[in-house]
Amino acid sequence: MMKVAIIGAGLGGLLSAAILSEEGNSVDIYDRLPFSGGRFTNIPYKGFQLSTGALHMIPHGNRGPLGKILKQVGSKVEIEDSKPEGLALWEGELKTVRRKDFPRGSRNKMIKWYLLHKIFRRDRTLDKFEEGIDTFTANFLRSFLGWSLSITPSDIKFSKFLSIVKNVEKFGGPGIPIGGCKAIIDSLTEIIKSNDGTVNLRKKVEGIFFSNDIVEGIKLKEKLKYDLILSNIGHDLTARILGDEEYIRRASKLQPSSGVKFSIALEEPFIGNTGVLFTPELKRISGLNEVTNADPNLAPGGKHLLMAHQAVLTSNLKYEINLGLSDLKELLKNYKYEVIAIQSYSNGWPVNRIKAGNDIGYRTPYKNLYIVGDGAKGDCIEVDGIAAGIRNLMRDLV
Ligand SMILES: Cc1cc2nc3c(=O)[nH]c(=O)nc-3n(C[C@H](O)[C@H](O)[C@H](O)COP(=O)(O)OP(=O)(O)OC[C@H]3O[C@@H](n4cnc5c(N)ncnc54)[C@H](O)[C@@H]3O)c2cc1C
Repeated sequence: MMKVAIIGAGLGGLLSAAILSEEGNSVDIYDRLPFSGGRFTNIPYKGFQLSTGALHMIPHGNRGPLGKILKQVGSKVEIEDSKPEGLALWEGELKTVRRKDFPRGSRNKMIKWYLLHKIFRRDRTLDKFEEGIDTFTANFLRSFLGWSLSITPSDIKFSKFLSIVKNVEKFGGPGIPIGGCKAIIDSLTEIIKSNDGTVNLRKKVEGIFFSNDIVEGIKLKEKLKYDLILSNIGHDLTARILGDEEYIRRASKLQPSSGVKFSIALEEPFIGNTGVLFTPELKRISGLNEVTNADPNLAPGGKHLLMAHQAVLTSNLKYEINLGLSDLKELLKNYKYEVIAIQSYSNGWPVNRIKAGNDIGYRTPYKNLYIVGDGAKGDCIEVDGIAAGIRNLMRDLV
């Protein structure tokens, strides 16, 4: 049995804690905030269940890495797989977005890029792929990357995009947890506590102590000894609390991705199903979901909660938000709606701690210290990437 400390009670920390405590280890989690869940939990507001970050959506629903780990640790949380998985609003029509729905020229270009990568290891960013392809595919690509990863085509290499697409084809599209993000956080917390693990809130970890590159424990007000430390706060913050200049230099190069989320109240449904609506024609909003079609309790009596997301593309946040609002005005012109919250995410509270495709893995320069969470994702989207990273780490630990 190991004595394990986890720094951060975000989804990454809690998921790791649930696995390790189920295996019989003694696990203590520490979070600086008065609540657990980090960027993946609910904020009740006027009867709506808004969120600290995520759009109450799991990229690969029940079938992906997160769905599988939840089942493995005995979570009873219910995830409704989206149907349809996703549609794109294009020239006033709803289009399906399976491989065969894209024009032949773009599909052929994808095959050509795939072969060039496989045979010659050619690996360019996707803005080069966009050049010369049809407008629908180019705009949809931007919309997909903006919605699922908060990045643009110039941010991601073909090889990484290919892994993500392969996983979408392998695991399928998204799902919505009944009860929203918090249902997953509550369920993991229950599992950890039932295994005698502890979740300690308002406890900021100030440092990690070590001897000869082997970590020995964490520093709060006092020093606490542990056999294994998992850090849910990314490489950069971990390097800082270690005070390791070389590690800080390496980790500070990792760029986060920024975004804005709009929570919208409606009297009547706008999307009317549980899937994603991609909006490739809009200036900034790249997609929306309407979580109340899966769980009506995420809004008060009969109302609907629509959530829209955009990547932030310039340094002028006000300008970005105004573009998002004007997109919504155009999109919802025939609906009575109210924007009930506009939340922006960057730097210390980003959409992603590291832009997709730039992860450097879960290892640190120290023995018995690993990163979990969105600072060390596997090749899947968002929280499924977190789960894939943890799954890989656990295989390594065994
Ligand atoms: C607008 C937006 C929309 C998104 N939508 C989706 C979505 O629909 N689906 C999806 O899969 N993903 C989505 N994501 C991404 C997802 O929310 C994150 O990837 C995920 O929540 C990150 O979890 P984490 O555990 O890695 O980090 P966090 O949630 O950031 O957890 C880290 C925790 O560490 C704590 N901490 C920090 N420093 C210390 C310290 N020194 N001591 C103790 N504790 C500390 C923090 O308080 C925090 O609770 C979205 C994100 C945003 C912002």
